Amino acid sequence: MSLKVLKFGGSSVGSAEALRRAAAIVHTELPAGGLVVVSALRGSTDRILDACVAAAGGYLAEAQAHLTALRDRHREVATDLGLLPAVAAEWEPLFARLDQLLTGMGMLGEATPRGRDAALAVGETLSAHLVAACFGGTFREVREVMRTDARFGKARPQLADLRAAAAPWREGLATGTLWITQGFLGATAEGLTTTLGRGGSDTSATLLGEALDAEEVQIWTDVDGVLTADPSLVPEARPIPQMSLGEAEALSAFGAKVLHADSLAPGGRAGFRLVVGNTLRPGASRTEILPVSPLREPGAVTSVAYKEGISLLRFPASEGLEPPLEAARQLEEAGALRFGLVSSPAGTLLAVRPDTPAAARVLKALAASGPELEAGWAVVALVGEGLRADPLAALRHLAALGQEPVGGLLTGSSTVSIAFLVPESRLGDLIPRLHDRCVGQPSTHAAPCQKAG
Ligand code: ASP
Ligand code: MG
Repeated sequence: MSLKVLKFGGSSVGSAEALRRAAAIVHTELPAGGLVVVSALRGSTDRILDACVAAAGGYLAEAQAHLTALRDRHREVATDLGLLPAVAAEWEPLFARLDQLLTGMGMLGEATPRGRDAALAVGETLSAHLVAACFGGTFREVREVMRTDARFGKARPQLADLRAAAAPWREGLATGTLWITQGFLGATAEGLTTTLGRGGSDTSATLLGEALDAEEVQIWTDVDGVLTADPSLVPEARPIPQMSLGEAEALSAFGAKVLHADSLAPGGRAGFRLVVGNTLRPGASRTEILPVSPLREPGAVTSVAYKEGISLLRFPASEGLEPPLEAARQLEEAGALRFGLVSSPAGTLLAVRPDTPAAARVLKALAASGPELEAGWAVVALVGEGLRADPLAALRHLAALGQEPVGGLLTGSSTVSIAFLVPESRLGDLIPRLHDRCVGQPSTHAAPCQKAG
């Protein structure tokens, strides 16, 4: 029997109305059963984290206020659906447990990563019980199968153990039942609760898809699949009907927000189809991400991605590779994202996004110690399988735009993308023009980049 795994994010289960829509999708997509993976109701994870911070700081009244708000919000949604009586028995111990955890954090004056994960688990578990009641499915505890290491807050799956633990699920699901489980959560071999990192529910769905030999994993979100560009800069951006896993990986690395990078690896290993659909418009176009590339014309660009807030550190050639490598290491450890480290006999360029206050501090300290620092840059990436056959197409585009400062070219090991650095202030003008030129209109979607001039 072919199994499908459907994942619904926080906004798809965030209100009674959204849940009704999601239930209709499940009805259509899983007439013969399957597995549904859910996030916590929108905003719940942040709310629980705020409660932990408040409790650990000794602000118990504030922590309690968060707990009350969380409970009220959940009860309101369940009441709207007429499901409060159906879930109350499962929910009450969860609220009580969160209350105890917060009290414990208050007493200790700290919220350890382990304690935080235990508290966060309440969000996804509340949601999964509600969704099970709403969809007429059976709640299954994901911590029975999602084995991880003990890196609390960003646990890594233990694939062999996960697969072994999932054997009863493979059998159970083969009988055509509908099961609902939590995303984001895992457990160590000793049974301690872990989480996979923020936004980790997509990864839960694809990991479970892999372990359960699913034929398809569907990620339901609130956009029409993966788009050819960011619609806030390019109103004509449109969904990409089919793309390769390589294109999806490059897009998520260079800025597209739809899919979490970690969520793509299981599809590469297991070869299932990954589908991204819009809960608000289930009939609208969706994106299918395939393990093998769909046919692309040489030079064709599938999507234009960008990421702003990039800082450049330039190291003189005379210093060799040690200082830039050490800088990259320190920055990443502090939570910066590295977009490029390019070295030539003329010098070394390190492009990073200092995403945390700690990383911003490290960056400042590094700049004070020698290398030249420039803030205000953005990475722009042209992504497409077509670039494998004609990598220079992307350069022709760039040349044709006759644009001013390009801070550097970042070519990675992936041949499905070419990225370059431009001043952030140029994005609003550059991205629509690049999109128009490279991706163009729907009819020319698969056409190669036009020649320069
Ligand atoms: N609820 C978790 C978060 O907000 C996991 C997820 O939604 O993917 O990060
Ligand atoms: Mg998400």
